[in-house]
Amino acid sequence: MQIARRSALGVVLLTTIVLCLALPLPDRAEGAVPADVAKATGRQPAVPTRAPNLLGVIPVLEYHLIGDSDGRWSRSHRRFARDLELLHVRGYRPITVRQLVTKRIDVAPGMTPVVITFDDASPGQFRFVASGDSVLVDPTSALGIWEAFAAKHAEWKGRAVFCVLPSASNGHAFFGDKGIQGQRSAWRLQKVRYLAEGGYELCNHTLWHANLSKMSGALVQEQIARAQLAVDSGMAGYRMRTLALPLGIWPKNRSLLLRGAWRDATNGRTTAYQIDAVLRVGGGPSPSPFDTLFDPLRIPRVQVFANELETLLDQLDRRGTRYVAARRQ
Ligand SMILES: [Zn+2]
Repeated sequence: MQIARRSALGVVLLTTIVLCLALPLPDRAEGAVPADVAKATGRQPAVPTRAPNLLGVIPVLEYHLIGDSDGRWSRSHRRFARDLELLHVRGYRPITVRQLVTKRIDVAPGMTPVVITFDDASPGQFRFVASGDSVLVDPTSALGIWEAFAAKHAEWKGRAVFCVLPSASNGHAFFGDKGIQGQRSAWRLQKVRYLAEGGYELCNHTLWHANLSKMSGALVQEQIARAQLAVDSGMAGYRMRTLALPLGIWPKNRSLLLRGAWRDATNGRTTAYQIDAVLRVGGGPSPSPFDTLFDPLRIPRVQVFANELETLLDQLDRRGTRYVAARRQ
């Protein structure tokens, strides 16, 4: 009798486990509208059910200027805020390039990873405003918008990628200097530290946006190594492992992108670098890192302007080609 009761309990437990395993994956983002509520209220469910697809594509988005107006190379801060909402509600969650190339894709089941990159280190991406003796991140800069969004959606915290220039002109030196858009030169390294400590990924875009094809091997290495050295000055020990090709142009000797060194003749110190991810300026969404087509040294990107983002997301849904994360093991 005792055994029979145990057996019956066992059947119930087994049935429960089987039923649990057979249940569909969670199909809603946090705060999304459940299908029944959607039907009753006429609102659309935010995230439809999606089957896992680890060989699907991953958009690597590319932003340049963030400002007051929309253009080919600029996004208004209002539109940028809408882009984040749009991605979130359609089931996209950010990862860094490091996570992409090391296959550490930790987004929730049913979600699609997206990499969001900012090129050229302009003040609109990261602006400080003085506040007494301290500084605050300008809420209308991309970082301010990002952090306000991440305060509501924790999975966005620190998950953007900034491809920086330490010494370019016209306000493109670590997000602005010399009073451009109110940015003080003294704030530059503070910004580098802020990003690194916040968990954001810093990516090497060379010292001043050099056309690497026109440079000798020594100068190519100097451009990459001195950018690394400048970041190290702001955040000791931080090593950039991703490089965004300026203008999308390769140096004659491509292997110099990946490893090299530069010796500072003034003090005899040598700075070495190692790169294992190279970002292109276009080319569409990236293959999954689990796909044999994935090449970490030629990662394609999608520039965000006009309605390109909406068009891309619609296209990926129509074709059913987006990466969809599976249940965590
Ligand atoms: Zn650039």
